[in-house]
Amino acid sequence: MTKRVITDLQKCCACFACFNVCPKECIELKKNENGAMYPQIDEKKCINCKLCEKVCPVNSPVKKFYSKNVYAAYSKDSSIREKSTSGGVSFEVAKYIIENKGIVYATVMEHLEAKFIRITDLDTLLKIQGSKYIHSHIYDCMKLIKKDLLLNDKVLFIGTPCQVAGLISFLGKKYDNLITMDILCHGTPSQDSLKYGIKLETSKLVDSCSFRDNNKYCLKTYDSDGNLITETPYRASYWLNAFLEGRIFRENCYHCQYSEENRCGDISVGDFWGLGKVKPYNGNIEKGVNVVLINTDKGIYYWQVIKDFFIYQERDLEEAKRENHPLRRAAIKPKSYEKYISLYKENNGKDAILYSNIKKTIYIFFRRIIRKNKPFYNVIIRIPKIGKKFMDYV
Ligand SMILES: Cc1cc2nc3c(=O)[nH]c(=O)nc-3n(C[C@H](O)[C@H](O)[C@H](O)COP(=O)(O)OP(=O)(O)OC[C@H]3O[C@@H](n4cnc5c(N)ncnc54)[C@H](O)[C@@H]3O)c2cc1C
Ligand code: SF4
Ligand code: SF4
Ligand code: SF4
Repeated sequence: MTKRVITDLQKCCACFACFNVCPKECIELKKNENGAMYPQIDEKKCINCKLCEKVCPVNSPVKKFYSKNVYAAYSKDSSIREKSTSGGVSFEVAKYIIENKGIVYATVMEHLEAKFIRITDLDTLLKIQGSKYIHSHIYDCMKLIKKDLLLNDKVLFIGTPCQVAGLISFLGKKYDNLITMDILCHGTPSQDSLKYGIKLETSKLVDSCSFRDNNKYCLKTYDSDGNLITETPYRASYWLNAFLEGRIFRENCYHCQYSEENRCGDISVGDFWGLGKVKPYNGNIEKGVNVVLINTDKGIYYWQVIKDFFIYQERDLEEAKRENHPLRRAAIKPKSYEKYISLYKENNGKDAILYSNIKKTIYIFFRRIIRKNKPFYNVIIRIPKIGKKFMDYV
């Protein structure tokens, strides 16, 4: 018997749609030798129904929409804006849905695993704040969403565009009570790569981590009591450098069919990088501002309902696209990627992060030495003006 192949695995985004649809539950998503998840079929249980092939969004791309309106927006509630990655728009929309007896499916991080959960209360909702810059696992949430939709509950799904596409494809028909929000996404590393990146920061037991301080990338690790263990700004972090350089993504992210101005969610949100550079903007950018794309009539309806929670301004799509490649093209695979993959397979993720771009690693190594030399560092950062700039650099 020939082995069943759902789709070209180079393009598989691990959206879990095949896993959710299989009537025999014979598909599992398992890690390959470089930590990325791919579907594997138990051929003995398979009944050849081909539903997995049918729902795969790689085989049958979903409809995309040209944005009707583009806004720069952030929450009027400064505590929400502070805790959220950008302007807190996705959190505010989710809060509105929960307060109106709806259900939210979004990503939380538990014990360093990013995963989707079903949320019905505001306390749990707090966990979705903050981007988790790794691939988030949906597991059986698509089946749960279908159940909720059939019971006529209002459901909000927030995920990367490929996850939104997977859900739409799995559902197979429109539901008036479903609203989807896609987040601009330049690529996702595997969960294991992050664990290796954290090992490069500390040998202590890490329970959770965060990736941003408002507009600045900063990898912070915490123990199980929530105490800070390490705090490494972007320039001194091996993992954050590899992430932002696009060296550690899933293979399919380099061919991403969703990195363009046409979107598959009702609303799209991201960071408004480059805001004010072409056309003046008089808000405070440092604390984080969302780019918000309203793509469908349902998106327009919800924007009208929630817009008063935000300080917002209409902007144009060209400005939004200028410094945000997920609105124009997929991530470009750097030359060091193949080395990253082969080192990961031959040795481990730690060596892969360190030795796939040795020049970068040497720079980071020296930055880290300066940071650890506390007397020298403390003198430098006290120098007015230059000290602050230096601190930002190392
Ligand atoms: C892997 C990744 C890459 C990104 N790349 C870009 C980019 O190139 N350009 C850009 O403008 N924006 C990018 N973003 C989006 C950006 O970081 C913010 O998530 C977005 O602007 C929403 O901000 P907020 O303040 O509204 O959300 P917050 O209130 O901080 O809430 C975060 C939201 O993101 C969701 N989320 C967090 N982690 C994940 C995950 N791993 N998978 C799916 N959903 C998740 C949560 O469910 C929540 O809804 C990326 C996000 C991720 C997760
Ligand atoms: S349905 Fe999703 S997880 Fe399954 S093969 Fe297609 S892209 Fe991969
Ligand atoms: S063909 Fe049907 S039974 Fe076989 S793996 Fe796909 S969905 Fe499952
Ligand atoms: S870059 Fe594209 S394929 Fe990769 S996780 Fe983001 S949306 Fe999915």
